Amino acid sequence: MSYQSINPNTGQVTNIFNQLNYIELEKHVETASDCFTLWRKTSYSERSAILVKAAGLMRERIDEFARPVTMEMGKLLEQARGEVLVSADIIEYYAENAAEFLAPHILTPSLGSAYIENSPLGILFGVQPWNFPYYQLARFTAPNLMAGNVVMVKHAACVPQCALAFEQLWLDAGAPEGLYTNLFISYDQVNRVIDDRRIKGVALTGSVEAGRSVAERAGKNLKKSTMELGGSDVFIVLEDADLDRAVYWAIWAKMNNTGQCCVAAKRFILVESVADGFIASFQKALRALVPGDPMESATTLGPLSTESALLKLLEQVARAVTAGATLVMGGKRIDRPGFFMEPTILTNIARGNPAYNEEFFGPVAMFFRVKDEDEAIALANDSEFGLGGSVFTQDIERAKRIASSIDTGMVFINHPTWTSPDLPFGGVKNSGYGRELSSLGIQEFVNKKLIRVQALDAPA
Ligand code: NAP
Repeated sequence: MSYQSINPNTGQVTNIFNQLNYIELEKHVETASDCFTLWRKTSYSERSAILVKAAGLMRERIDEFARPVTMEMGKLLEQARGEVLVSADIIEYYAENAAEFLAPHILTPSLGSAYIENSPLGILFGVQPWNFPYYQLARFTAPNLMAGNVVMVKHAACVPQCALAFEQLWLDAGAPEGLYTNLFISYDQVNRVIDDRRIKGVALTGSVEAGRSVAERAGKNLKKSTMELGGSDVFIVLEDADLDRAVYWAIWAKMNNTGQCCVAAKRFILVESVADGFIASFQKALRALVPGDPMESATTLGPLSTESALLKLLEQVARAVTAGATLVMGGKRIDRPGFFMEPTILTNIARGNPAYNEEFFGPVAMFFRVKDEDEAIALANDSEFGLGGSVFTQDIERAKRIASSIDTGMVFINHPTWTSPDLPFGGVKNSGYGRELSSLGIQEFVNKKLIRVQALDAPA
């Protein structure tokens, strides 16, 4: 495996980074372990000072952070800037709220007194994806550092400069050596790290295949893990929806980050009476997108992250069509340098079609027509995934009822599924387990330690 920066706009390799050998890897784990013995003794306010500084540096150096995202994985520059700001917000959110989230919980036992203390576990290991190269790291790092843990991260091989920029951020913010460590390592070395007795927990964000491999290894070692995996989120439009609003958000939900979001809308479920009008407006908006250099503000359709991601998606579309789906538009590579794909719409995807249960990670929308709300819910739940989903209707009580019936970790009403530091993020079924962000995210890797005090005058 090699850690390489390849510009997805041109296909040119711009930088190559060496992988660690086993001796170097061991040194990093040792440093992190030494760091933990000191870090666990720091106060919340000492930890918070470093996080506040890191958040401030991200905001101050917004373009310095945003540019490598665009250069390495092709995100439109304005969206990359947005990602830097939301990452700073997450870091600051935990700096401000961790002490309250982890405050001791007082119990009232029948005898004596007792409380639950949230103690840190030790070194945590994160395996992270390229699609939000800082946001994903911030989501994992900020709560866990505030909880008194230290973190080591294997980032995706295609975003090495983002990985290094995030590591340097912590040093610049005054973090001790070993508090945050980037690891350029192979899958074998990932397993070695998980096996190491100094590693106390494992968090992966990525595909189902990667999740199975890493969760299995963590399970063998009886280590706690969280899995934030793929999705095939529904975008349900009912007959009483505000259609202009629904189409506006549908385009955003499908095309933000060129469709490479775990919670991108992937299955559009339309009640018959609105389907034709909705699809026509959606198609018109897709046709208006302008492919080009993601550094340029005029560009509205960026490239996919890598050539292999593009080829995989083209192959998935071809397979879906061979199995009977209708290609309404797109389906081809755009004839220009780089890894660009035409915005694509598929319909008539029958239950036996492989597309029915696959995640399309890019600018591919699948459309389904249903006769009513019940059929929409049944179709939404007929999926191996369970990450997010959204429902568009002007009847909020009806939307809440539908939301309760959908088997996913998140449902948004009249808005695409999205993220905020104070909202929990995560899924069920093949979309994984555990939650990141909000007060829930910081509870995943702490020891909920019971401390009970026997009254001194209690009978022996
Ligand atoms: P990926 O191929 O699974 O890679 C994710 C990370 O796992 C990368 O660092 C990758 O390293 C590593 N990895 C892959 N296979 C591995 C293995 N067998 N052993 C050890 N490490 C392994 O996923 P991706 O293409 O980067 O990201 C897209 C996927 O992530 C989509 O399915 C998306 O829905 C999901 N995602 C989920 C969430 C969520 O919160 N639920 C958020 C974002 C993305 P290399 O790069 O070196 O291969």
